[in-house]
Amino acid sequence: MKTVNIMDVPFLYTDQSNFVSLIDQHIQSKERTFVVTANPEIVMKAQEDPVFKQYIDKATYVTADGIGIVIGAKLLNNPLPERVTGYDTMIQLLEKANQNHYSIYLLGAQQETLDKTKANILKDYPNVKIVGSHNGFFDWDNNQIADEIGELKPDMTFVALGVPRQEKWIAENIDRFSHGIFMGIGGSFDVIAG
Ligand code: UDP
Repeated sequence: MKTVNIMDVPFLYTDQSNFVSLIDQHIQSKERTFVVTANPEIVMKAQEDPVFKQYIDKATYVTADGIGIVIGAKLLNNPLPERVTGYDTMIQLLEKANQNHYSIYLLGAQQETLDKTKANILKDYPNVKIVGSHNGFFDWDNNQIADEIGELKPDMTFVALGVPRQEKWIAENIDRFSHGIFMGIGGSFDVIAG
């Protein structure tokens, strides 16, 4: 698949709607998939921090999260079609999940935010199965959350721990899971919670 390199981060050449269709295909064929929607902060951090760069290198796809990346690609004479953000991707995947009765797991944010996020998802996307959730303040050395996700096998796991924790958590744990979409979505639970 065509990518555009910006400071050694390979951005997938795609638009928002085709990207969501691509992820949906991976859900249907039960392929383990790690999505990073990268903004300039992520690109800079990957440049400065070799350990963080290794996490990003584990991603199946990196997309252009924000106009800054799209402008950067244009300046490099290697344009990307449009931005493909974490929030928009999550919302469009919830629509797919509602149509196809997919299961999801929500990891991250404060408990109150997480509870409101769950309630709003159930209200707006009633066919989505929220099979589990955990707030974002937990002991990193305890594998209980990853064990639970491994058993529940959700179609999609949304990880809202902020940068760089969410990429670190996914990169360190994804090999335990047989399939599923894993994506860091920053402050999106706060937006959905309202
Ligand atoms: N968060 C979390 N655990 C942490 C730190 C942050 O669950 O240890 C959550 C925080 O509550 C918020 C989300 O991560 O819901 C995004 O945090 P932030 O806005 O700091 O990250 P950014 O969007 O800038 O990546």
